[in-house]
Amino acid sequence: MEAIRKQYTLTVDDQEEIIKRFTNEMLNGLKGEKSTIKMIPSFVTKRPTGDEKGDFLALDLGGTNFRVVLYHLLGDHRNTQDEKKYRIPEEAMTGTAEQLFDFIAKCVLDVNPPDNVPLGFTFSFPCLQFNIKDGELCEWTKGFSTSGCVGKNPTELLNEALKRQGSSIRVAALVNDTVGTLMAKCYEQNNCLVGVILGTGYNCAYVEMANNIPKWKGSKEGEMLINMECGGFGVLDGYRTEEDIELDKLTPNPGAQYNEKMVSGMYLGEICRRLMLKLVKAKELFQSATIDENGHIHSYMEFGTPNLSVIEADGSVDLEDVKKVLEEAGVHNSTLEDRKTVKELANIVSGRSIALAACDITAICRHMGEKSKDCVVGIDGSLYKLYPGYHSRLVKSLVGLKQTCLVELSEDGSGKGAAIIAMSTVH
Ligand code: ADP
Ligand code: MG
Repeated sequence: MEAIRKQYTLTVDDQEEIIKRFTNEMLNGLKGEKSTIKMIPSFVTKRPTGDEKGDFLALDLGGTNFRVVLYHLLGDHRNTQDEKKYRIPEEAMTGTAEQLFDFIAKCVLDVNPPDNVPLGFTFSFPCLQFNIKDGELCEWTKGFSTSGCVGKNPTELLNEALKRQGSSIRVAALVNDTVGTLMAKCYEQNNCLVGVILGTGYNCAYVEMANNIPKWKGSKEGEMLINMECGGFGVLDGYRTEEDIELDKLTPNPGAQYNEKMVSGMYLGEICRRLMLKLVKAKELFQSATIDENGHIHSYMEFGTPNLSVIEADGSVDLEDVKKVLEEAGVHNSTLEDRKTVKELANIVSGRSIALAACDITAICRHMGEKSKDCVVGIDGSLYKLYPGYHSRLVKSLVGLKQTCLVELSEDGSGKGAAIIAMSTVH
């Protein structure tokens, strides 16, 4: 246990080293040189004032659920919305492009949207962007493996599916959820310079000056929002553990998204599961308990991050909720000592996620220099929203790194941002 704690806890010196490596990758990415951080210009060059008005449709695809949302921007920093959520069927995530995009198009028709409403498509996977509405999927992440999509334009795939379904709606903007999150927060308050997603995946966007992007061949005037794809940050030798390495090998995208696999909600539960089994093997955990052979504790990716939330939130003397979570995972008759250990493991795993996210946000703010002082960092995603203490521990970690930015929830940033960007294409 002691060794695990030591290995997973990042000191401020560790964090400074990671910030240095991250900054280096950022700069390489901006130059267009080899880098694990793609630094993709989003073609979004103007932030909203909050006065914008009108009705816009947004699609949010990028993880567990798929959402179709009709936004009514009211001006004065306010909006209302009508939203419908759909569970993405397994065959759409792992089948053919036609299966996935026909599913999406049918959901769009299902909400009876007004004719020709501008559509913002939040497609939260690494995409090179060619203009505000067209791009190319670089690779799938977060468990998707639908065939016939990598190297293709998601906008074209969706427009064709909409046509097949008899709809006249077409995509006006292709949006990454981090860029959307930044824009949505700006609609509320103007000094948001960083957008972060901490959900199934992990990624950041920030406001760069166009003349600071050597690889950018367009206008060097004004701003350009950058979709960093920093979940891909991979210069983490010395920090990746045995669990990270083993987990990565079993994912559909081995060798990629190292940062995401240490930070995001998709993986924290699995890391914790592996640590529990490691302690069982070392005879430090569950020695008097009985463990079902087919229990989730033995199944890859079956011990979800929401379990860690329950574990960390349990303030009871007997850790009754921890016990319940363990029972559900197939561990019976755990001792209080066992449960305390499990709670500490959860804390260690979430702590590393928070420390790494703080490194990246700090690197981004330092890179922006003076203007980042007291800027807002808008964050969306269930890990950030629902994990007990994630926000306050992140703030503390940033203070430790001498950051003065303000971390705030960007409520429904990934959807609302797409509507705002769709709006910018018609005004
Ligand atoms: P997405 O990233 O898929 O667009 P979310 O932002 O809702 O959607 O993130 C979903 C992810 O958040 C899940 O994969 C899960 O890992 C994590 N998550 C969901 N509920 C909780 C919770 N209660 N505590 C911690 N993490 C959670
Ligand atoms: Mg999302």
